[in-house]
Amino acid sequence: MNSAYSNSGCVYLVGAGPGDPELLTVKAARLITQADVLVYDHLVSDAVMALVNPAAEKIYAGKERGNHALPQEQLNDLLVKLAGQGKQVVRLKGGDPYTFGRGGEEVQTLRARGIRFEVVPGITAATGVAAYAGIPLTHRDYAQACMFVTGHLKDGSMNLDWPGLARRRQTVIIYMGLHGLSHLCEQLIAHGLPETWPAAIVQHGSLPTQRTVTGTLATLPMLATAAKLRAPTLIVVGEVVLLHDQLKWVIESAETLD
Ligand code: SAH
Repeated sequence: MNSAYSNSGCVYLVGAGPGDPELLTVKAARLITQADVLVYDHLVSDAVMALVNPAAEKIYAGKERGNHALPQEQLNDLLVKLAGQGKQVVRLKGGDPYTFGRGGEEVQTLRARGIRFEVVPGITAATGVAAYAGIPLTHRDYAQACMFVTGHLKDGSMNLDWPGLARRRQTVIIYMGLHGLSHLCEQLIAHGLPETWPAAIVQHGSLPTQRTVTGTLATLPMLATAAKLRAPTLIVVGEVVLLHDQLKWVIESAETLD
């Protein structure tokens, strides 16, 4: 099976899930305890990192907002180099590697350079947060579709399909949206959703510091500021948010992190 490759090195692109280490897949848990080298992102939780083979080399690849410790090209080269040395490399990413994680770009490089790889999916923030915050992504009474979008601001504004997002009977999940929350809510109202449309923002889903703030498109920006939420946060827009009070099961601490 490996005969097309010149050595036994391999890069495993592994999803670490949203934070709770019990949400790792069995395969991810096995690989992170066996890796020779681990290249990990900022979003990988401390609790997951605690499972890593203590003898493994750990390389931080950054990826906080505005602070990429390693530019993507250097990172791609590093993965190629390590696997070229015959190492078992785990490239560990928060959530799922193919969901807003540039996993596709990394694997394109590996393929082009003839490096063996495997991809291990993880629980993405949307599904992890939905479960832990008690907000189903779909529900026959409220939403028959669900969209995942990035709220990462480019030049101060979000380049999104606003008419497509501002529809009823669907749930919109916004990754990387904390800094653009006001803009997001304004645009959804401007494109036809009512000010009273339910919306929520969840900080640190599945971690002990999880906090959920619910409101409406009109109130959520103010409520989120007042709650002093810290990244990572996920925004959920849609009537499924109404189910939070009934379906929440995680006991959240009311304290803010300072
Ligand atoms: N590949 C990741 C997403 C990377 S983009 C995944 O599949 O989840 C980073 C964004 O993911 C953050 O800005 C935030 O919006 C979201 N995110 C990741 N982990 C989260 C968590 N535990 N709680 C809330 N949002 C999270």
